[in-house]
Amino acid sequence: MRRKLAAGNWKMNGTKGNLAQIEALASAFPDPACDVLICPPATLVAAAAALPDRRSVRIGGQDCHTGVAGAHTGDVSAAMLADAGATHVILGHSERRADHGETDALVRAKTDAAHAAGLIAVVCVGETEADRDAGRTLDVVAVQVTGSVPDTATAANTVIAYEPVWAIGTGRTPTLEQIAEVHDFLRAQLVARFDQGSDISLLYGGSVKPGNAAEIFAVSNVDGALVGGASLKAEDFGPIVAAL
Ligand code: PGA
Repeated sequence: MRRKLAAGNWKMNGTKGNLAQIEALASAFPDPACDVLICPPATLVAAAAALPDRRSVRIGGQDCHTGVAGAHTGDVSAAMLADAGATHVILGHSERRADHGETDALVRAKTDAAHAAGLIAVVCVGETEADRDAGRTLDVVAVQVTGSVPDTATAANTVIAYEPVWAIGTGRTPTLEQIAEVHDFLRAQLVARFDQGSDISLLYGGSVKPGNAAEIFAVSNVDGALVGGASLKAEDFGPIVAAL
């Protein structure tokens, strides 16, 4: 049985005052039917994990360094995230690939570091609009998954998020048929490569909202969502959690 996961990515948003949203979410779902994860900015990870009323809401980071400690000004290691109370870390998000030039090889090294620290890696892949228009979507995501996910990935330590770059923060989403095509393709890739490939959860991400979550969750091989904008407020993220 694959685990279902509703994951929120706050990106570079949120200060201490926003932590109440996590407790509001927790109290709305005392016994959620899926795993619920919030990834706040690094400055809030420890405080989020220490919230007295966080209940079953898990806390994650949005990136980590490949190393454990050392002379890397401004970076945060997976071991530090784990020490702060994180259980997950998002890696290879398209904004990091674009803003920081992250390559598949670097994302793979970060995923190894996350696993070594005991974190679950949420590895992101997805095509640009130009890729899709050129009919390259499946080729692009295949190369990204092959390059970004280490051979040691298991259902316990890795989640894959399919996030079309053109759907992130735009209000545009692929058709349900397009989502199914990519998720079925990724499932086949995972099954072919990993012993536990049929059990690794596959999330969809990109403009998931309360109004479209249920239909997206009904698509084959969609095991949850990675949600940006609609994860910032419990009143928006709650209905998405409920739909899963
Ligand atoms: P969005 O972002 O839900 O705001 O489109 C998704 C993401 O970047 O993970």
